[in-house]
Amino acid sequence: MFSGYDSPVDPILAHVQAQQAPIVALIRRMVECESPSDDPRAVDRFVDLVSAEAAPFARVQTFPGGKFGKHLLCEFALPGPSKKKGEILALGHSDTVWPMGTLAQMPFREADGRLWGPGVLDMKSGIAFFLFAVRALRELDIPVRSRVKLLINSDEEVGSDSSRTLTQETARRAKAVLVIEPGTGLEGKLKTARKGVGDYTITVRGRASHAGVDFSAGASAIVELARQIERVSGFTNLKRGVTVNPGLVSGGSRSNVVAAEARAVIDIRAPRMRDAEILDRKFHALKPFDKRCQLEIHGGLNRPPMERSVGIVQLFRTAQRLARELGVTIEESMTGGGSDGNLTAALGIPTLDGLGAVGEGAHAVNESILINRIPDRTALLAKLIAAL
Ligand SMILES: [Zn+2]
Repeated sequence: MFSGYDSPVDPILAHVQAQQAPIVALIRRMVECESPSDDPRAVDRFVDLVSAEAAPFARVQTFPGGKFGKHLLCEFALPGPSKKKGEILALGHSDTVWPMGTLAQMPFREADGRLWGPGVLDMKSGIAFFLFAVRALRELDIPVRSRVKLLINSDEEVGSDSSRTLTQETARRAKAVLVIEPGTGLEGKLKTARKGVGDYTITVRGRASHAGVDFSAGASAIVELARQIERVSGFTNLKRGVTVNPGLVSGGSRSNVVAAEARAVIDIRAPRMRDAEILDRKFHALKPFDKRCQLEIHGGLNRPPMERSVGIVQLFRTAQRLARELGVTIEESMTGGGSDGNLTAALGIPTLDGLGAVGEGAHAVNESILINRIPDRTALLAKLIAAL
């Protein structure tokens, strides 16, 4: 739990506390620059805003995002030895789940000790914190041993297809990855494990016929799909954290026609790679109940699990110790939601996630962050950068 600031106040924390107003001002500008994943021009505007903020103290590069906005990579100029050893990579995303125009109903506002608005928690505040963490290290002339990069992709909320390779290639050089996604719950727990996420599409092709005149000649794709859904739902194993969710179904043409085609899209989650592999074999082994129907199975794991490795635990312990110096007790958590941290952890790189803002309501109308946690989260990022 957050226990307030004990004296003597950590010098980085004191510095960041004095910066609270400009940090809030930057978050406001970021939230008011809407950036839905499916609007590349809007995302580019947001990326330009972040680039302009970072440019005075970073080498800034962008990469094309295909049908999405551009990806941004910043390498910061930091105090300490000019020849840096090793690399720290911070990961974030510029896109939000909120459609263009959401601001009209959900304007940025400051109330009840919180900042509110689309994308404020997931994850624009995290980006603002990171930029101010770097600034604090520069302004206080705190030596940093490692090269420090920040990669912000534009398609995290829609599966990171266009940024995946860039994320993996950039992370490969890093000794640690810091993901500035929001922390868990109103305590802002860090994330040391994330389930792997994937989806499967089951397409059933049956045989159409007139439901009244020629019922027996038909083989209903919908009935077949319903039985398959019942079967795959049985793959859920809550004890092992494995879940199978048929979240989307479609099919048929009219109520008086035996359906020729039906389709289900099924979300799967698994905390361990081994379970994901078993699940994959089960999906691909599905056979039709009605031999007159054909099944087509597509899909698989989209983000591999972030398994709680020794390296991740070490990184968490470091963060926990540094947080204690700030008067904050920090805990760890596991989540079923994926992030780009899944990709870097799967490469074997110690990855600590949930280092961004503390709040609630990601992807929901009550999206908000706690103002009184802005200083310690920003200071924690600065201290991690200096310590690694
Ligand atoms: Zn996010």
